[in-house]
Amino acid sequence: MKKMAILCIVCLIGWGCSTKTDKREAEMNRFVDRLMAQMTLEEKLGQLNLPVAGDIVTGEPRTTHVAEDIRAGKIGGLFNLKGASHIREIQRVAVEESRLGIPILFGMDVIHGYETVFPIPLALACTWDMTAIERSAQIAADEATADGICWTFSPMVDICHDGRWGRISEGAGEDPYLGSRVAEAMVRGYQGLDLADPTTMMACVKHFALYGAVEAGREYNHVYPDDYHMFNEYLQPYKAAVDAGAGSIMAAFNTVRGVPSTGNRWLLTDLLRDKWGFTGFVVSDYCGLEQLCDHGVCANKEEAAIQCLEAGLDMDMVSAGLPALAEAVRAGRVSEKAVDAACRRILEAKYKLGLFADPYRYCDANRRSEVMLCDAHRAEARRIAGESMVLLKNEQNLLPLRKKGTIALIGPLADTRPNMAGTWAVAAVPDRYKTLREGLADALRGTGARLLYAKGCNLLYDAQAEAIATMFGREMRDHRSAETMRAEALRIARQADVIVAAMGEASEMSGECASRVDIEMPDAQHDLLVELAKLGKPIVLVHFAGRPTVLNWETDHLPAIVEAWFGGSETADAVADILFGGVNPSGRLCVQLPRHVGQYPFSYRQMRTSRPNPGGEFVKYISCYSDVSNGPLYPFGYGLSYTRFAYSPVSLSDTILTKDGSLTAKVTVTNTGDRKGSEIVQLYIGDRVAKGVRPYKELRGFERITLDAGESREVCFVIDADRLSYFEPKRLEWTIEPGEVEIMIGPNARDTEGKVIGYR
Ligand code: BGC
Repeated sequence: MKKMAILCIVCLIGWGCSTKTDKREAEMNRFVDRLMAQMTLEEKLGQLNLPVAGDIVTGEPRTTHVAEDIRAGKIGGLFNLKGASHIREIQRVAVEESRLGIPILFGMDVIHGYETVFPIPLALACTWDMTAIERSAQIAADEATADGICWTFSPMVDICHDGRWGRISEGAGEDPYLGSRVAEAMVRGYQGLDLADPTTMMACVKHFALYGAVEAGREYNHVYPDDYHMFNEYLQPYKAAVDAGAGSIMAAFNTVRGVPSTGNRWLLTDLLRDKWGFTGFVVSDYCGLEQLCDHGVCANKEEAAIQCLEAGLDMDMVSAGLPALAEAVRAGRVSEKAVDAACRRILEAKYKLGLFADPYRYCDANRRSEVMLCDAHRAEARRIAGESMVLLKNEQNLLPLRKKGTIALIGPLADTRPNMAGTWAVAAVPDRYKTLREGLADALRGTGARLLYAKGCNLLYDAQAEAIATMFGREMRDHRSAETMRAEALRIARQADVIVAAMGEASEMSGECASRVDIEMPDAQHDLLVELAKLGKPIVLVHFAGRPTVLNWETDHLPAIVEAWFGGSETADAVADILFGGVNPSGRLCVQLPRHVGQYPFSYRQMRTSRPNPGGEFVKYISCYSDVSNGPLYPFGYGLSYTRFAYSPVSLSDTILTKDGSLTAKVTVTNTGDRKGSEIVQLYIGDRVAKGVRPYKELRGFERITLDAGESREVCFVIDADRLSYFEPKRLEWTIEPGEVEIMIGPNARDTEGKVIGYR
């Protein structure tokens, strides 16, 4: 092993620098060739095995069943383990006590930060700030690697048009263009320029593919996108992440074109490797391999394992189907060549991560105290959380609030610590995060303003439903009666000049297996809001949510609404920054908010239909509902600021675009208010006639600008055929046909103005 390490240190110096790529690749290939020549079939299959850490988490690493398997060379990676010293000890077993000393990959769902938690991914995407998003992933990597982790199951890049799906919280929303930019930024942030850097980790792009399209928003359900939508929408962010160099990909639970993704050769080999040139490895999702039997396409686990291996799956999370294929290989039911290919890809990943050169490079226990939840990381998380919050409504400039008088903070989410970070924050340390009440109190300290608090109601009337909504240690049930709680809240509210209502979803109401059909304000909270509104005092709703929700009543009755999502560890301070004007809101929706759950699936990228209905209201025999208008309550890309921005008309450098030419579309944006603010200038296109039906409007560019009061800036988009093109699924190519295309620019998908160009 020592010799192996020395050889690898030499090989690794400078990995990541493009001029030496070929040489390094040749060195890696030689190294892996030599290693594989020594491996038995069982040892190769062992590399394909990714069990969950199991008893090794609680037990003594040296004596557990997992440790036995590590010694026997039967494990390639482990996940859900943390702690540099703990991981070092397990790595030591692999390196010193197994025959070939091959180090192990340590994976974890580091989804939106580590101990420093960033906004949930849906909220992060609302920043439209790729530098901030990349930075959040970089900090997550810095902290996770200080805890022994070198591989994260993130980013999730599943496009979703359905707020019923709980996992919409984990993705970047509904749009493929924005989603692709976010996917690239996340990969860059996690992986940096050099995977072997001990502060970077390998990304795993998930869930390949189309998981966000689950029918009716129900978790683990079937998906139906046709080829047009698959290529033009859902596949885009995965492709962008692959192009950004993602080291691994996770296969989705669902089928694609009728075949489960985990065993889908067209998806994992023909498209991903042959067409897109992906050179990393593919891991299944949790038990995804054996679920081929649940799908009814295989009779038993061995059949499933053979199908998956032949399809191009390299690593098997938890099912232990791939590692059990020795017999099948010997009997000729599956080729050893397929095993070799998968094993090679896993070994290459370990090589690139620098694990052969130094298996303990992610086990520096001293680094923990320097980086974990350090002030610099927290400051970044607070800034980014502020950028992610979306000001939906602000009548008569109620916000920002002045730090004076009496403020009543009311609602079940006002004083709960574990809910602030949001779903799926595996390393969160809620004891070290503030509740919103504490954040507001800190912001008001020394100002003379009074902060009163009452919980006012439970999350939901039904205790059982609340237990599901507050799983994993987020319980907050109050056992007083609803009447007592409400009376207390009204008494407190009567004393106030302004009411801040902290309400919405608890963090576990979104996330994995948290699909819901009722996405309005939960019952008890709605009733309390109605009573509070009767007092006639100004109310600011600070709305917590992990998904787009229906906010009709709130929009009609409340003067100010801040969509806070879940902002991570620094939520409380970030909300205070927004409420008191320390930060001018700049978040913009990455999903439109519906008027009714019945509108789902629902996207601003509405395809051109027969009997179209541009107004969206009821007209018999055209495309509409008779009880709700077609459009959203708040459009995609929308968000207010404490200042205002005016757009000039779009000016074009030319009205004709040729195949190899380009033209520019420009607007001048002016900050017409009286404070500095940031705006997201959005470019949409609308192809009027194409062989494949296209949406009326689709995002094809954006720029985030910050302007002082009174300042103007010209924002210019270069338009060429690439920017206008779409994937024509019959010919399998990106194309744009001659005809007219609208070029639209504006602050959101609804309020655009544009001009028409001709493409020749
Ligand atoms: C989820 C994945 C996750 C995996 C490991 C699965 O249930 O679908 O997103 O990475 O578990 O925790």
